[in-house]
Amino acid sequence: MTTPSRRALFYKDVPDEKWSDWRWQMSNRLNTVAELANVLELTESERKALEAKNLFRVDVTPYFASLIDPNDPYDPIRRQIIPTDREMVPFTSMMEDSLAEDRHSPVPGLVHRYPDRVLMLVTTQCASYCRYCTRSRIVGDPSQTFSRKEFEAQIDYLERTPQVRDVLFSGGDPLVLAPKLLEEIISRVRAIPHIEIIRIGSRVPVFLPMRVTEELCDMIQKYHPFWMNIHVNHPNEITPELAQACDRLTRAGVPLGNQSVLLAGVNDSVHIQRQLVHELVKMRVRPYYLYQCDLVDGAGHFRTSVSKGIEIIEGLRGHTSGFAVPHFIVDAPGGGGKIPVMPNYVLSQAPGKVVLRNYEGFVTTYTEPDDYNPHAVAPLEEKALRRPEPGQEGVLGLLEGHDMFIKPQTFDDVHDRGGGKHRLKANDQKWKPLGIGQPPDLIEGETREASLPLIDSGDRK
Ligand SMILES: *Cc1c(COP(=O)(O)O)cnc(C)c1O
Repeated sequence: MTTPSRRALFYKDVPDEKWSDWRWQMSNRLNTVAELANVLELTESERKALEAKNLFRVDVTPYFASLIDPNDPYDPIRRQIIPTDREMVPFTSMMEDSLAEDRHSPVPGLVHRYPDRVLMLVTTQCASYCRYCTRSRIVGDPSQTFSRKEFEAQIDYLERTPQVRDVLFSGGDPLVLAPKLLEEIISRVRAIPHIEIIRIGSRVPVFLPMRVTEELCDMIQKYHPFWMNIHVNHPNEITPELAQACDRLTRAGVPLGNQSVLLAGVNDSVHIQRQLVHELVKMRVRPYYLYQCDLVDGAGHFRTSVSKGIEIIEGLRGHTSGFAVPHFIVDAPGGGGKIPVMPNYVLSQAPGKVVLRNYEGFVTTYTEPDDYNPHAVAPLEEKALRRPEPGQEGVLGLLEGHDMFIKPQTFDDVHDRGGGKHRLKANDQKWKPLGIGQPPDLIEGETREASLPLIDSGDRK
């Protein structure tokens, strides 16, 4: 399916060379009431928002505006980029930095949330501005953008942090940077030996597909392995221009994924989502994440219940190709990171048996082996394979027996109840686990044989 462009209606005097020139598109973006009223029948609510002070920045490329049905105030593309006065309505729990990204930034613009990968913000500018932007606290504001000094600090942090193997460029939109600057940033990160993967999150292929030129793809190819996630929310955004941009990128060897945001009145429908993922995989774009809308100032009217996302996954998994089903994600308010949420397929369990259901409601049992021995890695070998950084094992650390519990930082103070040390509490050793079924850590210099009497492993003794 492709949406008929309204270019003929409003831009018939613009010659093709200009229309397909990304610089022309960028410098002719629409942002005032007058410019937008030229191409759309503006509603009262839209006018009010556009005239308001302190509104999150508005800018729309002529290309993207041409995909809107000018007579439909509920057009799904229009709702994403034209503000309404509902943006000014506060809601319970809204925050400026709902993912606590700034708190997770060792240097400005570098969010190190997960053990082995970082989000690197390289600009605050975009080709057009999504009204539900999770980073509206900085995005669109040229005075918030990152300086050369901050970029050097980001590079310095990466160089001295060998646990980082994956760098994700975002912003803002990295693909609106001047081509030379973009290549400089990419090549500086690529020169760091422990960085294995570079990726970009960009909505430029959607807002400004003409920016994805052969030259851009030739440049990117020099820095493989290089991955890209684009951001398509509705099938109306899929045009021959976007398909060509994706084709150029995939031919350059860039694996493409799609991240979309679940938005009320835009794509909160199983049927729209099914059509969207089908159109994406036809362009060789793999649906990656579908996000629950963040608790961000200005985005309240886009929020859905979390159950809508679960319902969408229920409507996709099993009903269509497995690679067309994204993960539905709630990005944890307060900075807990991405949490996958999905329907339950495990109905019940007993020792030796699991009861499962499929997408049709067919209920089955899986009988587990009664002689299964988990592959046990010898302690020395395990020590070499385990993450070297302390404190980042999470729930896996509980399963592997390195920790027995995870407790809130304030737990000990709260449960001390204002009491002091007394005779029963005097011995701190008392609260160490006496053993939880795992071999003790090797003492430095000890041999494996000497310390290995505990593991009963099938193939490794
Ligand atoms: C989303 C995100 C990443 C990348 O997460 P993946 O699940 O690996 O795609 C990394 N860092 C931050 C801070 C993020 O928000």
